[in-house]
Amino acid sequence: MSIAPATVTLSDQFARTLPELALAWRAEHAPSPNLLVLNERLAAELGLDADWLRSPEGLRLLVGEHVPDGVTPVAQAYAGHQFGHYAPRLGDGRALLLGEVVHPDGGTRDLHLKGSGRTPFARGGDGLAVVGPMLREHVVSEAMHALGIPTTRSLAVVATGRAVRRETVLPGAVLARVASSHLRVGSFQYARATGDVDLLRRLADHAIARHHPGAAEADNRHLALFEAVVSAQASLVARWMLVGFIHGVMNTDNMTISGETIDYGPCAFMDAFDPATVYSSIDHAGRYAYGNQPRVAEWNLARLAEALLPLFAEDEERAVEVAVESLGAFRGQYDDAWSAGMAAKLGLAGTAPAPLVDDLLTLLRDNHVDHTSFHRRLGAAAGGDTEPVRELFLDLAGIDAWLARWRALGPDADAMRRVNPVYVPRNHLVEEALAAATEGDRVPLERLLDAVTSPFDERPGLDRYAEPAPEHFAAAYQTFCGT
Ligand code: AMP
Ligand code: MG
Repeated sequence: MSIAPATVTLSDQFARTLPELALAWRAEHAPSPNLLVLNERLAAELGLDADWLRSPEGLRLLVGEHVPDGVTPVAQAYAGHQFGHYAPRLGDGRALLLGEVVHPDGGTRDLHLKGSGRTPFARGGDGLAVVGPMLREHVVSEAMHALGIPTTRSLAVVATGRAVRRETVLPGAVLARVASSHLRVGSFQYARATGDVDLLRRLADHAIARHHPGAAEADNRHLALFEAVVSAQASLVARWMLVGFIHGVMNTDNMTISGETIDYGPCAFMDAFDPATVYSSIDHAGRYAYGNQPRVAEWNLARLAEALLPLFAEDEERAVEVAVESLGAFRGQYDDAWSAGMAAKLGLAGTAPAPLVDDLLTLLRDNHVDHTSFHRRLGAAAGGDTEPVRELFLDLAGIDAWLARWRALGPDADAMRRVNPVYVPRNHLVEEALAAATEGDRVPLERLLDAVTSPFDERPGLDRYAEPAPEHFAAAYQTFCGT
């Protein structure tokens, strides 16, 4: 533990507890740091002084060059299944954990940098990140937070002044990310693969202390940890589905133990509702399509169970038996969370009749209806104004019949407006804002951030932020990974 000059106090709990997973490393030099966006509210929550963060020394902290006395930035080791294939050594190839911010009320959060230069885990990568994708993570993660969905946060994006070679030469940037931790399924896979059961146990106990302290009380605390992660992920993925979020790269190294959404690479909010929707340019088989996300989460959790097996029971057969039983809870928990969320979106108390929901999803898909617009406009339909919803459909007889069945259940329009966002980071708006910011114009980015960080609160002057994408845009949209 050390105290920095000015305002940052960082702890090194992770590096001290799990030295086998922490490789001390330093950031690359940033020739001319320029603050693109600072999350002042988050800074305040962390007890960081926004004015100091804006100062030359603060900026150097945010790109990893100013390292407070006693702090040792580390690259974290992890493994992972990428598109189903196991990679034994991934790790932070272009990221560093600076340390943990320990809040006086007990909360501990990682302060982490992405795009801070090559580390020994970089393999063929250049260790860098560029302005567009780092601002994308800023916008989308802050939108998710405002929607009430557990997520890592973005404290700041700083342009480094370094040119980065991609398909073209692009301006480099570092994202300062805050997370309740960066422990992932892949961290456990890595620890398990070392064959060192003591390391695996220390990692599991660290995860319990940090995220799921209730598990410490259980007879089998490591099984209870697993069950807590299963629950957290079932709830998280249900929330993604309800809001139309597609993560895009649900590899096991991108699934947290805390239950926070992490790694905003090729992610996107779905425009027209269709379970087969895939935006990621590299997801040719649609493994991470919108509709597959619950199944993939369950698959990833099975990989976590495999990694934890030696801690569940001494007898391997017994360990597998209890793991299978605990993983079996995922489907029910997911279904319950999703059904309750869907009933809320439809303004219905309790649960929504399954045939009503199934018929709606079929109508939405067959009519290529914009997911976010539909649910928001349905709020008006609850009060009798059905035109805004009907406009979204070609099959008017179909939606009229559905609306009649639904209205007979007495939906609550006010409750719907509190759960169905009017503003999400729609793909065409995100691309427009990032393109402008990359050229130096940050006004569209700031307007978009303003809209999506108060997503339920409809405001004048933001009409175009509530409109579906133009059809020609939505049809051809693709996202890119790790750029
Ligand atoms: P992701 O799928 O973006 O979470 O990244 C998967 C792995 O690739 C992680 O180990 C990253 O650290 C690494 N990686 C991604 N981009 C780069 C890069 N430009 N340089 C070095 N490593 C990278
Ligand atoms: Mg990742």
